[in-house]
Amino acid sequence: MSSLDTPPTEGRPERLTAHEARQRLEHERNARLTQLRAIEEAGRDVADQVMAVQKEAVRRVLAEIEAAFARVGDGSYGACLGCSRPVPAERLEILPYTRFCVACQRHSA
Ligand SMILES: [Zn+2]
Repeated sequence: MSSLDTPPTEGRPERLTAHEARQRLEHERNARLTQLRAIEEAGRDVADQVMAVQKEAVRRVLAEIEAAFARVGDGSYGACLGCSRPVPAERLEILPYTRFCVACQRHSA
């Protein structure tokens, strides 16, 4: 993790490659699909409404992941939709489908 040793420098942002971004998104998507299946299986014992809310939340993340895949495809991935500056690679490693840098996320939340 050499990226943590060096302070972020303006103008020379660390970015994930398209390949890395796709791998992380793929991983994230598989995790959500597994989660969705688990909810569906547990659903037999859980109230329909609880299950619907949980599924909706997972589906929303899946939609974000799909949108992020599209951004990798058109080359806009990794740029903040709020300020159009690059989202730090460390953040994309944790939240590969995020559209915003930390500052803009805080504004929009
Ligand atoms: Zn931003």
